[in-house]
Amino acid sequence: RAKEGGKARSEVFDERMQAQAVDALQTTDDLSRAVAEGQFRLHYQPIVDLRDGRVRGVEALLRWQHPRRGLLTPEAFVPLAERTGLILDIGRWVFTEAWRTLETWYAEAGPDCGLTLSVNISARQLANGELLDVVADTQPAGPAGNALLVEVTEELLVADARAGFSTLHALAMMGVRVGVDDFGRGISSLAHLQTMPIDHVKVDRSFVAGLGRHAQDEAVVAGIVGMARSMGVGVVAEGVENAEQLDILRRLGCDSAQGYLLGFPAPTFDLDLLGPRPTRLVLPADGPGVDGP
Ligand code: C2E
Ligand code: MG
Ligand code: MG
Ligand code: MG
Repeated sequence: RAKEGGKARSEVFDERMQAQAVDALQTTDDLSRAVAEGQFRLHYQPIVDLRDGRVRGVEALLRWQHPRRGLLTPEAFVPLAERTGLILDIGRWVFTEAWRTLETWYAEAGPDCGLTLSVNISARQLANGELLDVVADTQPAGPAGNALLVEVTEELLVADARAGFSTLHALAMMGVRVGVDDFGRGISSLAHLQTMPIDHVKVDRSFVAGLGRHAQDEAVVAGIVGMARSMGVGVVAEGVENAEQLDILRRLGCDSAQGYLLGFPAPTFDLDLLGPRPTRLVLPADGPGVDGP
């Protein structure tokens, strides 16, 4: 193709390739310093129980406070961290920080508060028993040690079902629950995950986005809820942005929901949201059970 385009085009192409390579090198360099220099942060997004509007869980979302480029979200650096293996160090930091946070929350809200914190992991972390080592090394004693959940994408579990199977069972033994993230997007179905100890599935944002607009998306979510029910697995919806979506999810029997409508990811989580009247959460005025019984 470079030949057809002549010399000028191939040079432009080369320059761009080179710029990208330099950029990746620079970012890799920055990344390898970032853990040591404490540039990572966790942001916290509440997960709301649709039965009573209470927050019982929180998802930890990774951010990189880059010295020059500002606050970066995972899409800007997780793929590179995966390729270079730096995700293993970052993941270790994430678990350490998540459990430190849980210990603070449990100290403040009490040992029976039941609050959970979910952390995300990617492919590299699931391989080679790395995850089990990290959990063994970072898990604290006491109630906070049993309050962590790991979110693994459906895609990942399907790609290496054998490794997934043994790792998930080992995690369950260690008191770490597992959620299946971005559920419904891959080719698998709940039935394929039947042998795995799964706490809940998280309906992919793309289906939630179509609720109220595409009947097909409602059918998919209804199907997921039905299957999950019959298997005793919970259902969380992600990416809820408006009241109509929330109403439909509640009607379909979804257990919990997460999204900008209910709370943005933020550097801190307000423990007052655990209370019976989370008035700061936007919930439809006519929704059942918002104010609790
Ligand atoms: P995810 O686990 O599916 O996380 C949900 C993403 O949706 C988050 O993006 C969140 O900010 C965003 N989100 C939440 N509510 C809404 C909403 O109502 N509408 C829309 N449009 N988006 C919403 P974020 O924080 O950029 O994270 C992207 C992905 O990066 C995550 O997807 C997760 O797969 C990955 N990730 C996050 N933290 C970590 C981590 O600590 N380690 C690893 N390996 N991956 C992580
Ligand atoms: Mg997630
Ligand atoms: Mg998700
Ligand atoms: Mg997602």
